[in-house]
Amino acid sequence: MLNWSQLSFSYIPTDYNVRCTFKDGKWGDIEVSDSAYIPMHMAAVCLHYGQEAFEGLKAFRGKDGKIRIFRMDENAKRFVRSAEKMLMAPLPVEKFCEMVKKVVKLNERFIPPYGSGASLYIRPLEIGVSPKVGVSSSDEFLVVIFVTPVGPYFKAGFKPIKVCISRDYDRVPPKGTGSIKVGGNYGASLEAGEKAHEWGYSNLLYLDPQEKKYIDECGAANFYGIKNNTYVTPASESILPSITNMSLQQLVKDMGMNVERRQVPIEELSEFEEAGACGTAAVCSPISQIDDIDTGISYVISKDGEPGPITTKLYNRIRAIQLGEEPDIHNWCVILE
Ligand SMILES: *Cc1c(COP(=O)(O)O)cnc(C)c1O
Repeated sequence: MLNWSQLSFSYIPTDYNVRCTFKDGKWGDIEVSDSAYIPMHMAAVCLHYGQEAFEGLKAFRGKDGKIRIFRMDENAKRFVRSAEKMLMAPLPVEKFCEMVKKVVKLNERFIPPYGSGASLYIRPLEIGVSPKVGVSSSDEFLVVIFVTPVGPYFKAGFKPIKVCISRDYDRVPPKGTGSIKVGGNYGASLEAGEKAHEWGYSNLLYLDPQEKKYIDECGAANFYGIKNNTYVTPASESILPSITNMSLQQLVKDMGMNVERRQVPIEELSEFEEAGACGTAAVCSPISQIDDIDTGISYVISKDGEPGPITTKLYNRIRAIQLGEEPDIHNWCVILE
């Protein structure tokens, strides 16, 4: 059917999506749709004022043939936090999980086989759909969850990336929506991402928007550095708490290493033995070099341009848990029967 190993990270049509509407103060039944379109009033709040939130998670076909969904409950909880902050009705965690399991089951034929390196990406989203012209919250909300198969992020092998620092762009303002997963943050960062590409980098490494002294996020991924047997990751109110980062921190502790969640000053970049960007899409992308565009300073993290041993180990560990190759001692995977 599909050439699994050639898939990229783009939308491929699948059979069904699931939907649920919040209307008259309550959530309705879960509906199954075979349409990829959302009929909507042109004055819907989400279209004009960005009342939206989304999630991203993955399902895998394991070594034992079973379907595993990685940390679905954490995505459900974050979806609630995002909705609340955007003044949208929060979808109950149980309903989120039920919808995710249902849409994965319905599209089982699109789950890439074990060994292909590919997976089924699950995209939940919530939008305010009431027609309004004045700026206010919607009364009606729609949650849609669709899936699409995605290829291995590192097609040409696990390769380090180069990123840059520029003080001309912020992803989010200091007291803004940085800690929730909403489309507006992405819209606001498209230009910066484009600039970084123009300059020859994979992405921008954002500084904290208040003082521009500390590392925040790496594009739409969390940042970590490793030195002296310690995994260091920035603490900041403008960072989206990544579930991958949370998982890496646990694995690092399991390996007997230390974890520090704290402010990371730019200068500390020169001390890291390894650095990486982490998120659901790639698990972790090793960072080989960080160029500060404004000061001209280059932080060379990987002297030989190869991924570091700890990043490689962490990447392999997470993959092995997702694929059922290693015991899931923290109960991260939900197995679909
Ligand atoms: C989704 C996202 C991440 C990664 O989070 P995961 O839960 O690991 O996928 C990091 N930063 C931003 C801004 C995000 O939107």
